[in-house]
Amino acid sequence: MNRQLKFKALYENKLHDVFGISFPDLMVDIPLQRFPFTQKVKADELIQFVGKADVNGYEIFEGDYDNDGNCVIWCTNCNSWLFAQLDVPTKDICIPCHACDGNFFFDEHIQKFETVGNRLL
Ligand SMILES: [Zn+2]
Repeated sequence: MNRQLKFKALYENKLHDVFGISFPDLMVDIPLQRFPFTQKVKADELIQFVGKADVNGYEIFEGDYDNDGNCVIWCTNCNSWLFAQLDVPTKDICIPCHACDGNFFFDEHIQKFETVGNRLL
């Protein structure tokens, strides 16, 4: 499998690296500063790695957005990673998927995408 599966977990209003997930309850192992250095928690949200890095080399995760409010989402209609339009001040998604709206700029724009935040934070 070439696709890299990687997740982050929202827990106590922070995003954490995920070392393990147990199914079906979706308990996740996240870092802990002290021994035993991981803890098993029930995440509020799990977000998935999109498989690409942004212009600064940071891995892009679901929900990441840029200065223009382009927010990476999985569109179940398009079956693909695409951009939604985020209203940045409220973190509300106002256009669920640009491609569903006829605007197919994902592949072009993801190459110059610069993450400024994640909509869950
Ligand atoms: Zn779509």
